[in-house]
Amino acid sequence: MSPSFQLMQSVHSTVSSTNQQRSDIHFWKTGRIGELVFKGDCVISHEAAGVVLKCGEGVTDLQPGDQVAEEPGVPCERCFPCDDGRYNLCEDVQFAGVYPYAGTLQRYKVHPAKWLHKYVLCLEPLSVVMRGIQVARLQLGHEVVVCGAGPIGLIALAAARASGAHPIVITDIEPKRLAFAKFVPSCITYQVSRSLDAEGNARAIRALFGSCEYPTAETVLECTGVESSVGTAAFTARRGGAVIVIGVGKAVMNNLPFMHISLAEIDLRFINRYRDTWPPAIACLSGGILDLKKLVSHTFPLGRAVDALELCADPRNGSIKVTLSWIKWRQQYKLFRLVDMHKVDLLLRWHDGKCLPWL
Ligand SMILES: [Zn+2]
Repeated sequence: MSPSFQLMQSVHSTVSSTNQQRSDIHFWKTGRIGELVFKGDCVISHEAAGVVLKCGEGVTDLQPGDQVAEEPGVPCERCFPCDDGRYNLCEDVQFAGVYPYAGTLQRYKVHPAKWLHKYVLCLEPLSVVMRGIQVARLQLGHEVVVCGAGPIGLIALAAARASGAHPIVITDIEPKRLAFAKFVPSCITYQVSRSLDAEGNARAIRALFGSCEYPTAETVLECTGVESSVGTAAFTARRGGAVIVIGVGKAVMNNLPFMHISLAEIDLRFINRYRDTWPPAIACLSGGILDLKKLVSHTFPLGRAVDALELCADPRNGSIKVTLSWIKWRQQYKLFRLVDMHKVDLLLRWHDGKCLPWL
């Protein structure tokens, strides 16, 4: 057993309805996202929190009973991007829920202590958004449009507001989600029209800011990864503005307004997951900068994971973040230790990340 490893009792595993967690749904439905292909059985989901059951040798900053969130990507720490501090670009990253690395829809998990953080709620999707905010370089009092009111879009809305952006327009095709967006009261909502093309929807969004090119939105945070929405984002940003694509989408995306992006010098930027965002995300949550508790719309027991995934798969259900939980937190921690510690020891010997169904 590696001395840096420890066991996390995965008591709290979450999946959410779209966007970033839409990747779990994509894997579940199609077995692939772009170059990431499932070639065999593998546990899905990559957002989890739990209670530490046992620590490996050399772990000094955590102890059994600590509540932690799992940063799901374990980079190699040997390649050039890792050495360069850009570990989110590591080609050998072992990312939970991406084949062949087991995801978090399981009761127990072994994870390196370095990639566990003492906080539990919404850290993973917030980290995605924090990376988007880093890349966007938002400014006080500057206009922002958020495309998509799923979990990532709603968190992006809250983060943009906390960053001082104003005014903020958030768009979605589902009115239930737009209603949810009012947890940031100052936001302006826009329901995307199926009868309009990308340029038509962009024109309507721009009109919410006024009739001139300025102050149309300088920055658009695209949180859907949907082709038509990326096109709308490109037409929405003002000339010289920026579109930050946070959502994941198809391997090949057609119908981008190439010449408009070129002639208007729209800065099209992308992110790949996150890096160095988890401690700042914890600071934002613990410091009261962001309050994301309201985003948890449904809770299921772990045994009903398929029901939870079905709920998430259809945006018309109005789910935002769906939580799967198989054991109550600290209340059952002592009992759990008495009953299952022999399994814990077994798992520590088999910490290769594979699913152990008998657990
Ligand atoms: Zn690496």
